[in-house]
Order: sequence, then C-alpha cells, then structure tokens
Amino acid sequence: MSVIENLPPVRGILKENENIGKRSFFGIEGYAEVLFVPEDIDDLVFFLKNLPKEVKVTVLGAMSNVLIRSGGVPGIVIMLGKWFDKVFVEDDILEVGAAVNCSKLSAAAVDNDLGGLEFLAGIPGTVGGAIRMNAGCYGADISGVLVECEGVSFSGRIKWYKNADSDFDYRTSKISSNLIVTRAWFRGVRGVNSSITRKVNEMITTRRKTQPLDQRSCGSAFKNPEGKKAWELIDAAGCRGLKNGGAMISEKHCNFIINTGNATADDIEDLGESVAKKVFDNSGIQLEWEIVRLGNRRENNETGNLYGLSGNDPLR
Ligand SMILES: Cc1cc2nc3c(=O)[nH]c(=O)nc-3n(C[C@H](O)[C@H](O)[C@H](O)COP(=O)(O)OP(=O)(O)OC[C@H]3O[C@@H](n4cnc5c(N)ncnc54)[C@H](O)[C@@H]3O)c2cc1C
Repeated sequence: MSVIENLPPVRGILKENENIGKRSFFGIEGYAEVLFVPEDIDDLVFFLKNLPKEVKVTVLGAMSNVLIRSGGVPGIVIMLGKWFDKVFVEDDILEVGAAVNCSKLSAAAVDNDLGGLEFLAGIPGTVGGAIRMNAGCYGADISGVLVECEGVSFSGRIKWYKNADSDFDYRTSKISSNLIVTRAWFRGVRGVNSSITRKVNEMITTRRKTQPLDQRSCGSAFKNPEGKKAWELIDAAGCRGLKNGGAMISEKHCNFIINTGNATADDIEDLGESVAKKVFDNSGIQLEWEIVRLGNRRENNETGNLYGLSGNDPLR
C-alpha cells in the first residue's frame, strides 16, 4: 500500500512523488515519496501524533545544505511554509519562525539597530536548518545569538531547547535529530545602524569574492577538520577543478562542489567521495561531509524515478 493512503487528514498540502531535488540549491532531480507542508503548527502536531509509527520522517528547509540521492527519500518529507515565515522584534529579542531565511533575519536585526546577526546575511538557508547545522561564518555562529528554540518531535510533542542545554559545537548540537524546529528567539546587541550595515556589506563582499555564488552548489561540501581548512587540504591533494560527469570542484573555492548543468546526485556524491580519498591519501586526514546526504541511491538496474513524476511547486 502506498504511504499516502494511510495518512492522517491535514489542512496543509500533501503531495505524492514530489521532485524536491529540483528546488534544492544543487537543482538536481530527486523525489520525496510524500511531501507534507503543514498549514500551521496545530496541523503539524496533529499529523505527527497520528502518523503510523513505521513511516520515516525527514524535515527540510531551503535545501541549501542537502543532497537528495538519486533513488529519492522514502516516507514523509516535511517542509514548513508561510505560517512559519514570520519575524517579530521586541527590544533586543527577535522571535522568528523556522522557515524564515537567515538573510531576512539578519535584515530584521539591521532594521532594528541590532548587531550580532550580521554573519547570517550571506547564509542562504532557513532558521530551522541553521539551528540544526549550527550554521556560521567569519568567526560567528548560531550558538552565539540563539536564546531558545521551539520544535515538534517526530511523535508530535512540542519541546523547547535553551541554548545552554543544546551543546552547540562546530556544525552540530545536542538538539535531537527527531525534532522539527518551528520557532526560535535570538538576542541582538543594540548598536549603530551604519556600522551594523557596513559589517553586513563587508561580509557579503568577501563572500562574493571567494565563493562561486553564480553557480549551483550547497556551500561547503566538507567540514573543516580541527585546526585545518578543508579547502586547503583539497587543493593540496590536486582536486581543484576535478570533474565527475556534471559535477565539478569549484576553481574559485575548492570546498564547493558545483553542478555545472547536468550533474546527477550520484555524480556529486561520487566526486565528493573521490576527493575525500585523495585528501586522505595525501594528508592522512579523513574529511567529513558537511552536506547532508538524504535518501537512497538508485540501484544500477532501476530506471526512472523511484517515486514517479510530478510537477507543480506546492510551496508557491
Ligand atoms: C552559497 C552557499 C553558501 C553557504 N555558506 C554557508 C556558511 O557560510 N556557513 C554555513 O554554516 N553554511 C553555509 N551554507 C550551507 C547552508 O546554507 C546552511 O547549512 C543552512 O543553515 C542550511 O539551512 P537550510 O534551511 O537550507 O537547511 P537544509 O539544507 O534544508 O537542511 C539541512 C539540515 O537541516 C535539517 N533541517 C532543516 N530544517 C529544519 C528544521 N526546521 N528543523 C530541524 N531540522 C531542520 C535538515 O533535516 C538537514 O539535516 C551555504 C550554502 C550555500 C549554497
């Protein structure tokens, strides 16, 4: 029986065989067995409480840090829509929905003369994804500005995590992987608008100079090993510009894997694996993927898509 036939009734959107990969930053085909976009938090809680326990759940944000594997993602993929895309500011606290883009959060801070969130201006993900990944750059990360977050567990319970209890570390935290972050509170530092704006602009300019922003990528492919830069290790292993099918190591920033136009998820993953091997052979250091790889690879004898074809974008 197909998963969609056994799901609780919802007010939001349910779509079978959705090509979610096309909307990822890699822009590569990859299917969700069922996509669910809840109408609001009550819809999400009701759905999760009544979802058959054996159905696998995956949550996605802007898909700026994920690779959807060629065989697609089984079970339910949840994406938060408009209801979760709101920002409220009171004094030095910004209350934001998890679907808010990091650049929108940073802009709200600037508008209210609040500093400390400038680094988020160039991170293209959502607040939910940024909390999960403890996203950061230029010496700052989420752990430095988050006060608290709210989420819904995969079994439908609303939970809160205080920053101090979350054990944030480099691109990870103790926040459960079975949690859908739904809302968060950040604290800014009152400052002078012109200097906050200047800092944002400097960071954006540096990013434009050093990253291939005009090409399709999901940011840094690998985490920086302790005390090292992944891009330097990749460069030293001779991988700058290396290609596999339609995937390529960026000439501009060699920790970025780019889709040159017709890459498949397998091209990207295989290129990453071969880079990691070359780095290991050259330096003895094992790189760890920063990009989150989701779903299953298509088997050699499978043709077409595991979950079929569909068209419209349910989030628009
Ligand atoms: C050009 C470019 C530059 C980038 N620069 C940076 C950078 O400087 N620093 C940096 O840290 N990252 C950077 N990234 C990577 C990426 O933008 C961040 O990791 C971002 O935080 C991911 O957010 P997302 O909404 O896109 O998450 P997704 O890619 O959709 O998901 C990433 C992970 O978060 C989980 N997730 C998503 N939403 C939720 C939620 N609501 N609740 C719980 N878990 C969730 C997913 O399950 C997945 O495990 C860059 C990416 C690109 C394309």
